[in-house]
Amino acid sequence: MKNAFALSLAAMLLSFGAYASEHHAPHWDYDAHGPAHWCDFSAICKDGKAQSPIDIKTADTVSIAPNHVIKLDENVQAKSQIVDNGHAIQVNVENGGKISVEGVDYQLVQFHFHGKSEEKINGKQYDLVAHMVHKSTFGNLLVVGVLFEEGKERNAMLDTVTSGVGTAGTLNPAQLLPKNSDRYFHFMGSLTTPPCSENVRWYVMKEIQSATKEQIAAMRKFYDHNYRPVQPLNGRIVEAK
Ligand SMILES: [Zn+2]
Repeated sequence: MKNAFALSLAAMLLSFGAYASEHHAPHWDYDAHGPAHWCDFSAICKDGKAQSPIDIKTADTVSIAPNHVIKLDENVQAKSQIVDNGHAIQVNVENGGKISVEGVDYQLVQFHFHGKSEEKINGKQYDLVAHMVHKSTFGNLLVVGVLFEEGKERNAMLDTVTSGVGTAGTLNPAQLLPKNSDRYFHFMGSLTTPPCSENVRWYVMKEIQSATKEQIAAMRKFYDHNYRPVQPLNGRIVEAK
């Protein structure tokens, strides 16, 4: 009886092993399994009609609808953990502040960096971008994009992040935002990585942040081509404040 049980358990494990190897979790990247192949992992990456990132044509923007104006409340000391998530350097935060829009609060859950900006403005790609990912209690997402361009001024947050990968501590997410965080573009889009889920509220800050050449290189030492190409607008309207 005992042997029969052991045998059937072994058979179960074997068949599970076969199942697991045939149906292993698919992996994606920016190389052989790059953006053109992401539809193999999630159909919406190819079939979606509201994908991110986009090229923002400022001449085609319209004034922001009053109910799309955001209220930022990120000036807090947040518990943070700086990790390499396999695709980007990411900072996971706890009690990281929030953004309110249309009467709904979106808590900051993480921010991460791309080695060149994903979103473009009038065709221009910037040197780095930070994406601040917020989530409502209903699970809806709101992302704030902060663009960086090489300049003379150092950015304190970039130093904190690139020198602290693998460590935990506290930081103030508001440090990542531009001084003038009241001017931005808004549109509906998606995650820029698989599963490319849509219905993500995007806010891209207009004020470009300065990062030194050395700071940009320090971030790109981790990932230098982790950015998705721009996606068709498909009639979406970009609002501007
Ligand atoms: Zn991102």
